[in-house]
Amino acid sequence: MLKRFLGKFGGQLAIDLGTANTLVGVPGEGVVLDEPSVVAVERGTHRILSGGCAVGHLARQMLGRTPESIDVVHPLREGVITDFELCEAMLRYFIRKARRAAPWSRPRVVIGVPGCITPVEKRAIFNSAQRAGAGEVLLLPEAKAAAIGSGLPIAEPVASMVCDVGGGTTEVAVMSLGEVVSGRSIRVGGDHMDLAVVDYLKHHYSLDVGLSTAEELKIDVGSAYPLAEEQVAEVRGRDAISNLPRRATITSEEVRHALAEPLHEIVAAVKDTLNGCGPELAADLVDAGLVLCGGGALLRGLDRFIEQQTGLPARVAPEASTSVARGALICLQDLPKWRSTLESSDDEV
Ligand code: ADP
Ligand code: MG
Repeated sequence: MLKRFLGKFGGQLAIDLGTANTLVGVPGEGVVLDEPSVVAVERGTHRILSGGCAVGHLARQMLGRTPESIDVVHPLREGVITDFELCEAMLRYFIRKARRAAPWSRPRVVIGVPGCITPVEKRAIFNSAQRAGAGEVLLLPEAKAAAIGSGLPIAEPVASMVCDVGGGTTEVAVMSLGEVVSGRSIRVGGDHMDLAVVDYLKHHYSLDVGLSTAEELKIDVGSAYPLAEEQVAEVRGRDAISNLPRRATITSEEVRHALAEPLHEIVAAVKDTLNGCGPELAADLVDAGLVLCGGGALLRGLDRFIEQQTGLPARVAPEASTSVARGALICLQDLPKWRSTLESSDDEV
């Protein structure tokens, strides 16, 4: 009780702790921080680089271009923490940066987490956030946060469906009366699309490229559904045989071909989720369809591809990459309504 009281006056934050990006929302201010979930460390000692360029945007710019002595690390993989110390340091940095007021107090935080994480992984998130300076920590399933942030009527007795395509995971859920009725959380997302592009270029062009180059190509000319005007892009990398730098030209059809496998896994998760809900809810979805969010939802034609594959109307949420953070913020601002759906660090024994 005392902790809850302190939480109220210690400030409040909503955090979307994503594999690719971390977003922080502040009540009354909206989403105030959106940075890559990466940290630059010294190779060998694994100590965070000093000099103010070690976390987020600045660290991300170093990815793939670091000297031998520096590693740029993702403290989360596939939605879960893989490096506790770095995750804690990253969270501390983001929490401090987002909170200009009352930096001495311990804010209450709501964090969106993937539906597939284990109790041990949840414990790790509670611990990391608290060691990073949070007071009470409340966990909210990301699919719910995404649906709330997209304005879906999840508390009502009708079906709402979301598909959140992140970097390391995709969360699909059908919700009704505030609960997830059927859901799938798969460890496939935008990162796997980047890897698929790397593999394609290696096999078809004998060209080695880094993940950042592959991601750029995916964003620039990638698509899930044929484009009205197909495009070509120039890609630069290293020849796999001679090891010399060179360029190649690749078409948007080829990039789409490269993305086929991760896209089919996402569609399979959508179909499995639909299979798991009863006929009344399925009937609601015929008209309501599903909403796509997360950064991966911005892949061109993903909505049309899912429509074609499932027969359901699909639309991309407005501001798809901030849905989870905005949904978590809405819960934080109306805690009495949502508290029963959140898991609190205070409820643990
Ligand atoms: P997470 O929740 O895991 O942090 P995000 O929701 O931030 O992930 O989404 C990150 C993913 O979205 C990355 O794989 C990124 O490449 C992808 N992405 C961002 N913008 C686009 C775009 N315009 N087209 C395709 N993919 C995109
Ligand atoms: Mg996410």
